Amino acid sequence: MKPETWVIVAGRPEAVPGATLNTPVMPASTYVLGSERIYSRNESTEGWEAFEAMLGGLEGGGAVAFSSGMAACAAVLSQLPTGAHLVLVEDCYQGVAAIAEAGERTHGWRVERLAASDEGWSARASEADMLWLESPSNPLLELADLAGICAAPRRSGTRVVVDNTFATPLLQRPLELGADIVVHSVTKLIGGHSDLLLGAAVASDREEVARLRAIRGRDGATPGMLECFLALRGARTLPLRLRQAQSSARQLAERLEAHPAVGRVRYPGFGTIISFELGDAAAADRACGATRIIRHATSLGGVETSMERRSVHPGQEHIPPGLIRLSVGCEHLDDLWRDLDAALSDEA
Ligand SMILES: *Cc1c(COP(=O)(O)O)cnc(C)c1O
Repeated sequence: MKPETWVIVAGRPEAVPGATLNTPVMPASTYVLGSERIYSRNESTEGWEAFEAMLGGLEGGGAVAFSSGMAACAAVLSQLPTGAHLVLVEDCYQGVAAIAEAGERTHGWRVERLAASDEGWSARASEADMLWLESPSNPLLELADLAGICAAPRRSGTRVVVDNTFATPLLQRPLELGADIVVHSVTKLIGGHSDLLLGAAVASDREEVARLRAIRGRDGATPGMLECFLALRGARTLPLRLRQAQSSARQLAERLEAHPAVGRVRYPGFGTIISFELGDAAAADRACGATRIIRHATSLGGVETSMERRSVHPGQEHIPPGLIRLSVGCEHLDDLWRDLDAALSDEA
């Protein structure tokens, strides 16, 4: 089945007369004893499972939903032992970097940072306990050779983790390339409407999936009932949203390249995120404050286009000060360009 069809048919109740077409939001903490469902933190709910079935099918593994993208990342990282060697992509999500720094302080982890495009990743697969990749990376949008890294000889027990938030499983399926775990901030493109926080980890190995589920039950980073419902509803239009936003992103990247006020433009050729540079931080702040349709906001992946200067965030000192990350949404390209062009015109 094609992904466009799968996101529509997955996670629905059995089609019997009188059944609802959608898995309803069913608030439940506990169940009448006598079945496999005992307490929802441990044994899950039908609503979580409907969302997980959809995402697992898209990524080609078993999905475990968490309360946020960071909760999913934390559950994966919590498996690293004392003294572990963790290799992280240089411009990785700040929350992941913060967990890694805490691990250095309290668990004696050795954390190494490599640029996504660094040639050294494959060699680390035979040394490190975990490789943590984001491709495209955030916000420099560098690509890692995921196929090459996943195929490199690996020490037994070494896990390759890919944060697939930016690409989505429609553009990149890391488990097929040989990655062990994929993590998502479902908050972003999969949810798609900037109205929920949700995360997921997906693995092809059944034991890995069971372990992640057990960690969720143990630590209690459980997804919300409503959030899973909304994320599944959002995912039903992910292919349509992605097609529209990616088509606009390609054209906006070209037009930004040609704009006299704009320096370097980074766009990996796919996806909905563009990073472009203005002369300095003040110019970037003026542009972010001057748009009328495009929202000045952090985060990404919603139907609404948004942008922000990335170096405002702590820990982003390596990011060029005038770099703006633009998350392209589903508005008409003409309106987006008119808005951007007007906001940039004072800078030219
Ligand atoms: C937002 C984000 C996260 C964290 O997800 P939350 O849902 O905000 O907890 C992790 N990785 C990437 C790439 C993200 O963009």
